[in-house]
Amino acid sequence: MKAERRLAPGSTIGILGGGQLGRMLALAAARLGLRCRIYSDVQAAPAGDVALSTTVADYSDADAIAAFARTVDVVTYEFENVALAAAEAAAAIVPVYPPPRALSETQDRLLEKRFLARLGIPVAPFADVPDLPALEAAFASIGPAAHLKTRRFGYDGKGQIRLGEGADLGAALTALGGVPAVLEGHVAFEREISVVAVRGRSGEVAAYDIPENTHGEGILRRSQVPAAIGPRTAAAAEAIAAAILADLDYVGVIGVEMFVIGEAAGEPVLVNEIAPRVHNTGHWTIDACCVSQFENHVRAICGWPLGPTARHSDAEMINLIGREADHWLMLAGEPATAVHLYGKAEARPGRKMGHATRLRPRD
Ligand code: AMP
Repeated sequence: MKAERRLAPGSTIGILGGGQLGRMLALAAARLGLRCRIYSDVQAAPAGDVALSTTVADYSDADAIAAFARTVDVVTYEFENVALAAAEAAAAIVPVYPPPRALSETQDRLLEKRFLARLGIPVAPFADVPDLPALEAAFASIGPAAHLKTRRFGYDGKGQIRLGEGADLGAALTALGGVPAVLEGHVAFEREISVVAVRGRSGEVAAYDIPENTHGEGILRRSQVPAAIGPRTAAAAEAIAAAILADLDYVGVIGVEMFVIGEAAGEPVLVNEIAPRVHNTGHWTIDACCVSQFENHVRAICGWPLGPTARHSDAEMINLIGREADHWLMLAGEPATAVHLYGKAEARPGRKMGHATRLRPRD
């Protein structure tokens, strides 16, 4: 592996994944005079439009990923389903940030929950569900209000089913494709928040202000800053994120999604899930902060000093899902609104096509 030198402007970042997160990373990198190459399993990827090149190959193809790694100075990823072996193949050639262990601890919901529990971080009650008898036993102890989720490859509400009294457990498992799953107790949360934080190569940590997030059908609809939470909740949430970053010896931006239970509870927050990458609930930082989550990720993986995370404005970010992006012209005409479109040709239902951030002066 090449020595972990600070990467000067003109250096090249390799991004595994070609979606909108890769696109916004590449745009932030360009602002700093850095260049990006994209590795994706499809050609027409949003990130490819704004990068030096796109390599099209499978995420489990360790040889192709190693060849890609030879063309760049550092490798990062913008989604968590990169095969661990592939990330390790790249890490044998150039630094890979966040460290591949962040993938192995978070890309499987069961291992992720065990990892969090090991760190003493509160999570919803959960059980391993390899088959129907295990689901029946778990449902009897955790249910009836529960969520059945595939262990791997779930995103944006896909790969999960809400269960309730009298649920047909066999049908639920079949609907998820009969793959290994976890059962989680339903959390009657007050609100959902997330910590978007960054850790530099020398261990310094900075966190953005905590957004409050609204989901519909499992997909993020809106993030609003500031969140309506008290200081004890904010401190508990930030301490959890810092503990995760330290344990993983993490470098880059992380998103930690949490349920707020309330300050009267012993633990004001539970962790829902960890995303070892830049995060949709941090998109507002592009317009409401002087250094966005994308730039701070780039700074961290290149060994630069972290940039300020303070917000200069209050913000509301709304995702433009499917045909909602058709309203781009109206949004572009709104005052104090920044419109971001991802260059995706087809507005399929449930597909994130862009986002808009409305800014307001800080209170
Ligand atoms: P996930 O993909 O696990 O982040 O789930 C997507 C969304 O579904 C979450 O942001 C919550 O709104 C809801 N959800 C998932 N798991 C639970 C749970 N155990 N209790 C309550 N709501 C949940």
